[in-house]
Amino acid sequence: MNFWKDSMPERYNGFGPLLVAASIAVAGLLFFIFLRDPADPTRDFGTMFDGQRSLNDVSVQVSFGPRPPGSEAHAQMIDWMVATLTAIGGWELEVQRAEYNGTEVSNVIAKRGQGPPWIVLGAHYDTRFIADQDPDQAKRLQPVLGANDGASGVAVLMELGRVLPRDLDKEIWLVFFDAEDNGRVPGWEWIMGSRAFVQGLEVYPDAAVIVDMVGDADLNVYQEVSSDAQLTEEIWGIAGQLGYSDILIPEHKYTIIDDHTPFLEAGIPAVDIIDFDYPFWHTSEDTLDKISSESLQIVGNTLLAWLETK
Ligand SMILES: [Zn+2]
Repeated sequence: MNFWKDSMPERYNGFGPLLVAASIAVAGLLFFIFLRDPADPTRDFGTMFDGQRSLNDVSVQVSFGPRPPGSEAHAQMIDWMVATLTAIGGWELEVQRAEYNGTEVSNVIAKRGQGPPWIVLGAHYDTRFIADQDPDQAKRLQPVLGANDGASGVAVLMELGRVLPRDLDKEIWLVFFDAEDNGRVPGWEWIMGSRAFVQGLEVYPDAAVIVDMVGDADLNVYQEVSSDAQLTEEIWGIAGQLGYSDILIPEHKYTIIDDHTPFLEAGIPAVDIIDFDYPFWHTSEDTLDKISSESLQIVGNTLLAWLETK
């Protein structure tokens, strides 16, 4: 696979000197030959995935306020995701309005490339109605701002949306799931958006990779126990090659119900990349100051490098 075709001109419109076209072709070919080695884990992907730009995506989302289903900020999120992906270009967009157990959910889906393989990259964009883990009881009925729990995963996907080449030799869907985070709230369940999404699939993707709570400045991403073993090994293996084994730690820790779960239940290999050692989880303190561009960068670099091997 290569990520570099994008940097070559998509089409050559003019009828200018043939020499110019030939030079471009040669330059493109050299670029292609020298930069595309997918087996080289030492390649610096830092110039591709921009952690700062990703952090800015977190900041924009947080500026809308808490984004629970039904809120104005939730509708603003959908508009922002569609507008941002439209501006990036090269993504076929769909807002999937689906129903799960009588509740309407809206997943935003962006598709690009031709497979196989067909890979779904997912993150939830909604935030939790209540900060029920807050140490201060008075704050437990407030909504969660979700800088990490919501915005960080979206921000990683959005930045991947910018840097993935238009001309992919695989099919990639970025799926922004609704209604992930309201389990134990009366009338709600966890992971309703991803459940509706998987229910609606007529054909199954080859793999699903979920990112959730990946922006913590003190990032510790252990392997999630229920995740597909091979995908886990591949992704943590790549992270290790990139020098991130103190961040993506190759040890199992938690078993978590997350947006990967409906995929696993359908027999689709899926993995959850989540830092569950986050003291501000479901509290009023899940705010922008807890997030670092370096953490987003590490997760983005790892996903790009892994995708390159597919
Ligand atoms: Zn949550």
